[in-house]
Amino acid sequence: MKALLIGEYRQGKLLDSTFELFGFAAQLGGETAFLLVGDETRLPACDGPLYLAEAAECGEYNPDLHKQLILQAVARENPDFIVFVHSSYGWDLAPRVAARLKAAQVSEVIGLTDGGFEVGCCNAKMRRTVKPSTARAVLTIQAGAFPARQPNGTPRIQRLAATGNGGLEFVGYEPAEAKDVDLTRAEVIVSAGRGVGKKENVPVIAALARALGGELGASRPVVDAGWIEHSHQVGTTGQTVSPRLYVACGISGAIQHLAGMKKSDFIVAINKDKDAPIGEIADVLVVADVMQFVPALTARLQR
Ligand SMILES: Cc1cc2nc3c(=O)[nH]c(=O)nc-3n(C[C@H](O)[C@H](O)[C@H](O)COP(=O)(O)OP(=O)(O)OC[C@H]3O[C@@H](n4cnc5c(N)ncnc54)[C@H](O)[C@@H]3O)c2cc1C
Repeated sequence: MKALLIGEYRQGKLLDSTFELFGFAAQLGGETAFLLVGDETRLPACDGPLYLAEAAECGEYNPDLHKQLILQAVARENPDFIVFVHSSYGWDLAPRVAARLKAAQVSEVIGLTDGGFEVGCCNAKMRRTVKPSTARAVLTIQAGAFPARQPNGTPRIQRLAATGNGGLEFVGYEPAEAKDVDLTRAEVIVSAGRGVGKKENVPVIAALARALGGELGASRPVVDAGWIEHSHQVGTTGQTVSPRLYVACGISGAIQHLAGMKKSDFIVAINKDKDAPIGEIADVLVVADVMQFVPALTARLQR
C-alpha cells in the first residue's frame, strides 16, 4: 500500500497541519511519498521520495498547476491513496484530482477502520464508515483528527514543473478583519457550549472568564444560535487556541471543537455527562450541572 501525501505551504511556511498527514500515514501503514509546492530551504525531514515544485513558479495556490504536479507524481508513484488535509487547499484540489483519475473521493476522514474510513455525519453527531470501490482513492483528513508526527529521514528530492499559467493569477492573501477579541493570545479561555442552555445564561460563563482574568470562548452551536459573536468561536471554523487554561462549559468535545483547543496546557471540562468525549482530553472533568457549578466557582474565586 502506498500513500502520496500533499503538504501545504502558506506565505513561505510549511503548515503544521501537514504533519498530521504523516500521523495519518503512520496509522495507515505502508509506503509514503510526499509532494510539496514550496521552496527547498524548509523541507520536512521525511524518508522516501519528496516531489518538489517551486512556489515561486507555480504559486502557493493555483489549482490547475498544482493538479498537474500531483498527476505527474501519481504517474511516477502509482499510489493507492492521495491524501490532503481538509483545508480550503485540500477540499478544492481533491475533487479535481479524483475526477481526473476517475478515483473515489472520501472527504473529512476522522478515523480508520479495517479497510474503511470513518467520516462524520449528522452534523458530526455520528460516524459512518465508507470503503472506496475504486482501486485508488483521494482522501481529505479532518484537521485535528490524526496526531501530528514529525518524520525523521532524508528525502529523495524529485523536482517537478508545471506548464502554462493555470488560467488564473494568484493575487495574494488578505488578512482577516480585526476581531473584537484575539483568543489566540489569551492565557485563559472559558468557553460556553450548548449545555449552557440559553443565551440568558451566557453572562454566567462570561463572569467566570472575568474572575479568572480570561476571555470568553464558544462552541459553534452557541455562535450559530446567536448567543455569542463568531469572533469567540473555537474550532476548525473558528480560532485555534493554546491557552494555559481552557475551561469547557457544557461542551461535548466534537472533533471540530477539539481541533481548535486540544493544544491548551490544562483543560477543565464541566459536563453533566460523565461519558462526554471531552473527558478523553480533559485534565479534569467535573461532572455537574454547569449552571450550578459555574456560579459557585465564580463566587469562590471572587471571595
Ligand atoms: C464542517 C464543520 C465545522 C465545524 N466547526 C466547528 C467549530 O469550529 N467549533 C465547534 O465548536 N464546533 C464545530 N462544528 C460543530 C461540531 O461538530 C459540534 O456539533 C459542536 O462542537 C457541538 O457543540 P457543543 O459541544 O456545544 O454542543 P453539544 O454537542 O450539543 O454538547 C452539549 C454538551 O453539553 C452537555 N450538557 C447539557 N446540559 C448540560 C448542563 N446543564 N450542564 C453541564 N453539561 C451539560 C451535554 O452532556 C453535552 O456534552 C463543526 C461541524 C462541522 C460539520
